[in-house]
Amino acid sequence: MTFKEKCTFCTIYKNKKEIIYHDMYFFAIFDKYPVSPGHVEVIPKRHIPSIFDLTQDEWNMLFQTISHVIEIIKKTDLKRLYKKFIECPLNNRSIQFCKKMIINLENNNIIQGYNIGVNEGYVAGRTIDHLHIHIIPRYEKDVHDPIGGIRNVIPGMGNYRKPVSS
Ligand SMILES: [Zn+2]
Repeated sequence: MTFKEKCTFCTIYKNKKEIIYHDMYFFAIFDKYPVSPGHVEVIPKRHIPSIFDLTQDEWNMLFQTISHVIEIIKKTDLKRLYKKFIECPLNNRSIQFCKKMIINLENNNIIQGYNIGVNEGYVAGRTIDHLHIHIIPRYEKDVHDPIGGIRNVIPGMGNYRKPVSS
C-alpha cells in the first residue's frame, strides 16, 4: 500500500480512528466540513490523486462500496455525530460547519437524495491530492432551487430549461 507522509487521508487511514467503513480497496469517513448532514468521503486506500488512477478492480468495486456507505449514512444518528465532532473539534471552522448541520437536521432529517461526485483536477476544485468521492445527502428544500444538481458547479448553468444569463 502506498502511504504519503503529511497526506490528510493517508494519515486518517493509518490512525484508523474515524473510519466508518472499509473494504478491500476503499475506506470512508464523515467529512468534518460537511456540505449537508451525512456528507461522507469514500477514499481509496492507495494514495492516488485521480479517479483515472484507479485500477480496473478498484473501479469495479467502487459503486458497491458507495452503496454500502449509503446504508451506513442512513443508519447513523447524524445529530449525535455532529455533537461529538463539536465536543472534540478539528478547529473552529469545523465547529461552525457541524453546528449548521445540527440546525439543518432540526429542520429536516429525512434524506431523500444524493449528489455523488469527484473534483477531478485543480480547475475542478480539488484541494487534497488523494482521491476522494463525495457522497452528499440531499434533503427536500435544502436549497431554494435544486434543479440541475451538480450542473450548478458553474453558477447560472444549472437549469438547462432557463436561458443562459450573460
Ligand atoms: Zn494520501
